[in-house]
Amino acid sequence: MGFGVQLQPIAEDRPTLEHFLDGDVQLLPLVAALAHALADPGLLEPDLRPDPARSLEPEGGWSDDQRSRARELALDGLERLRDHGPSAGGDDLVHAIMQWLTGDDLAGDYEPMLREELGIGGADLRAPQWHRADVAPDRSLTVAVIGAGMSGILAAHRLRQVGVEVVVLEKNAGLGGTWRENTYPGCRVDVSNHVYSYSFMQKADWPEYHSSQSVLLQYFEECADAWGVRELIRFETEVTAALWDDDRARWTLELTTDGGGQRLEVDAVISAVGQLNRPAYPDIAGRDSFEGASFHSARWDHDVALDGATVAVIGTGCSAMQFIPHLARLAEHVTVFQRTPNWLVPRPEYQQPLPDELQWLFQHVPHYTNWFRLRLFWRSHEGLLPRLEVDPDWHEPIEHSVSEASAELRKLFELYLEVQFVDRPDLLEKVMPDYPVGAKRFVLDDGIWAQTLKREEVELVTTSIERITPTGVRTVDGTEHHADVLVYGTGFSASAFLTPMKVVGRGGLDLHESWGGDARAYLGIVSPGFPNFFYLYGPNTNIVINGSIIYFSECEVHYITEYLRYLLEHGHRALDVKADVHDRYNERIDAGNLARAWGVSSVNSWYKTNGGRVAQNWPFTLIEYWEQ
Ligand code: NAP
Repeated sequence: MGFGVQLQPIAEDRPTLEHFLDGDVQLLPLVAALAHALADPGLLEPDLRPDPARSLEPEGGWSDDQRSRARELALDGLERLRDHGPSAGGDDLVHAIMQWLTGDDLAGDYEPMLREELGIGGADLRAPQWHRADVAPDRSLTVAVIGAGMSGILAAHRLRQVGVEVVVLEKNAGLGGTWRENTYPGCRVDVSNHVYSYSFMQKADWPEYHSSQSVLLQYFEECADAWGVRELIRFETEVTAALWDDDRARWTLELTTDGGGQRLEVDAVISAVGQLNRPAYPDIAGRDSFEGASFHSARWDHDVALDGATVAVIGTGCSAMQFIPHLARLAEHVTVFQRTPNWLVPRPEYQQPLPDELQWLFQHVPHYTNWFRLRLFWRSHEGLLPRLEVDPDWHEPIEHSVSEASAELRKLFELYLEVQFVDRPDLLEKVMPDYPVGAKRFVLDDGIWAQTLKREEVELVTTSIERITPTGVRTVDGTEHHADVLVYGTGFSASAFLTPMKVVGRGGLDLHESWGGDARAYLGIVSPGFPNFFYLYGPNTNIVINGSIIYFSECEVHYITEYLRYLLEHGHRALDVKADVHDRYNERIDAGNLARAWGVSSVNSWYKTNGGRVAQNWPFTLIEYWEQ
């Protein structure tokens, strides 16, 4: 499966091919794809093997000579492909290409994991290798999935593949979760789009490097339709409670629907409600007194006229920094209230369409989409993670840097801001963070933030807010900032996992009481006392600077289907994780987070609970999660 465009035969002459290769294309994965398509490992010249120490660079730190040699090989390869067509290669070839493309002698389990991610020809190596009809033909099993976003539809697809009954309960009128709810102007995916896709549903025709909300929503809609899971979804059905009956080993779900309250009994429940879906409104005095229009970024009110309006925005997180540039073009005046500035990651292509020459390669070179995506995946498998590791002997204050690598990174990021705001020292002072790089989520930037803040219609206010008044916002220095419209870019109640749903497990144990505002789980998936109840994107499964959440969902759903297989194969009705296993796991997670910039810094972030523990983040590498 997958959304590969229909491959076209190459008809172009050499000068046209040369022209394509001189464009904005990545030659490293192209040489890999050509070696694959032509079944010619000879293209994988040892001198072009990327330097693992420079894996963050698109082409692994190639010199000009190396790049020009790669261009020669690619040109020759494209002509051979045009003149003789593709050839079939074996498993050894894929192995050789992986070793070459990553620049590493892939140790341990990396290669099987990467093969899953490669997904050549839509191959689905993570598909379950069993079916209920084979392992327990006389037993039925019904699973409810709560939420039809990215992870919920994936779970429903896998459950159908293994032949269990599945129903998806979705509070909204349509699927897509966060990609349906966030319709604010400028909303786009802020990880590389090719990586932000299912490994087995790769798409060869993303229009942009970081596509916009409507494109993402359409992708998830198309996946759901291709898998036939849309008919399993009960829309406008909100789960308010899940209650476990120990004697019958079943969950009863209480539902709110258009037709009133209902109950549903199932054997297992998968919560796929996400972390970032309950808007958080700030606890600022006078919020209800505001007389103009106001709304949250995730509940954008498109009926409110912004042309010529005076708008106040509270918050400067990832969402706000995507919509403020659009507001600034419409409104007469925008006052931006910033509490904490963000480190910006330079990404010149952030809002750019994929260039024609790259699209041409996706359409004409077999497997280029896959190798292009795999190279991106590899670059992000650790990403900046090692540079955010705390060195206990490091001499600088924690809020400056946590190690030598972190200090170097900080210098680069400071330099980026200094260049962006070179003509506005007043703004530079306000936008320069005073916490270590990686302690909060980065924001991608192509220069738009500085351009926006420098506009005369935009005012950046860093003085604390005293209260919201009927006509605007008053800061503690007594200044009244008039606003016709107030927009909350204040994020989500991320650490209040699964709220407001009530979940009651064995012996009447209430999930929220047992968590006490500090959610924990084993593998982020299960908690002791709640048999057959699973979370997708649960506690400590968020990543800060490496990988994509879709990868985690694929791993989590794999774990859940294997868990169900175990139940069926062994004739059990339920499984419950042992408390000591869960506790040891969480000790390791906590130690891991405390060894990262986001764990030791005291800066505000949605990664932490009110008590200050990091309940969101996975502190290790992607492969470690896959192995578990
Ligand atoms: P956020 O990162 O939690 O940002 C909330 C903003 O509101 C912060 O600037 C915060 O300031 C401010 N704020 C909160 N309460 C406040 C108060 N009482 N007074 C003043 N300021 C207040 O939320 P978000 O921007 O919606 O992003 C959340 C996450 O969603 C992101 O980190 C990212 O993972 C994801 N996201 C992804 C995309 C994408 O891929 N397209 C886009 C948007 C968001 P402090 O920093 O001081 O707390």
